[in-house]
Amino acid sequence: MLTLTSITKSYESKPLLKGISFSVAPGEVVCLLGASGSGKSTILRIIAGLEEAESGEVAWEGVSLMGQPTHQRRFGLMFQDYALFPHLSVFENVAFGLKMQKNQPQRTPSALRKKGFLGVLRGLGGLKDSDSRVRECLEMVHLTGFEHRRVTELSGGEQQRVALARALAPNPRLLMLDEPLGALDRALKESLLDELRRILRGAGIPAIYVTHDQQEAFTLADRIILLRDGQITQAGTPAEVFANPADGWVASFLGLGNVIRPGEGSGALNAEGLDIYKTILLRPQAELVADGGTVQGVVADVVFAGEVFRVELQNGWYFYVSESPRVGESVQLRVLRVEYLP
Ligand code: ADP
Ligand code: MG
Repeated sequence: MLTLTSITKSYESKPLLKGISFSVAPGEVVCLLGASGSGKSTILRIIAGLEEAESGEVAWEGVSLMGQPTHQRRFGLMFQDYALFPHLSVFENVAFGLKMQKNQPQRTPSALRKKGFLGVLRGLGGLKDSDSRVRECLEMVHLTGFEHRRVTELSGGEQQRVALARALAPNPRLLMLDEPLGALDRALKESLLDELRRILRGAGIPAIYVTHDQQEAFTLADRIILLRDGQITQAGTPAEVFANPADGWVASFLGLGNVIRPGEGSGALNAEGLDIYKTILLRPQAELVADGGTVQGVVADVVFAGEVFRVELQNGWYFYVSESPRVGESVQLRVLRVEYLP
């Protein structure tokens, strides 16, 4: 549906995007994952038509969108600061997105003069239809009954859901979410992530979700696109990326385990049977052993993580084990999965 081909962009002659190509399939949720400053928001602005690429093309179903104004693209946008109108109710906030869109084709001074603002709306399918669409969207985000509340009376999570309903209301053909959970605390984030996943799947609208948080990407994405230094380093389903990180940087960035580059880790690593001239990925599943472990070290921290204990060693490496060692104890660990990375 949406296709980006070799998009480039520089700011002050510093290249930010160096040839970005990817596409989004019908109903697909794509997560664009990259560190802060890697150009994620810029990509969204180029897709939305709020910013121009230097070269390359954005197309929808094979038709180039270059030069088409933002409001004609029918893409929904939701940003981190939801920019809700504090003086309007929940209902009015959601209706706003719909009104702007519905009103667009006839927003000429003469149409407005003749029929007035409400008249123009009625002529375009009527307020009744808009009303039911607003209610439908509020139901989608579980805010039925909140219609008349002021948005200032809502929690952060509820405000975030109002913003999502507003973005969904005009039935966009693509939804773009730019770090929408960024401002929320961890616990709220986790509960909203599940809900967001359900809503995006339920709406069936293809979405691009931008984040720097790998956990969010793994939870939400049908496909993850990893951005680094202006290029896509890896793309694939969360399971594919998890199983086959492209290189040490990807494995470190995604927190898939302990990445040990050639010449590092001596002392902590029992090199016997290992090729220490390659980049090694120690997956965190391990067991405590009396001797002959893959790794030895002093326990810096132990966190109970449900089924397992997360053990961090003084050198920063971490492992999941079934029995808890003591902080300060010298331990040996047998690592269950050792892999080599390109
Ligand atoms: P991300 O969303 O991944 O954090 P951005 O796309 O917002 O990254 O921006 C990446 C970098 O591009 C920023 O660090 C900034 O230096 C530069 N940049 C973005 N927009 C502009 C602009 N309008 N003018 C100049 N530099 C910009
Ligand atoms: Mg950004």
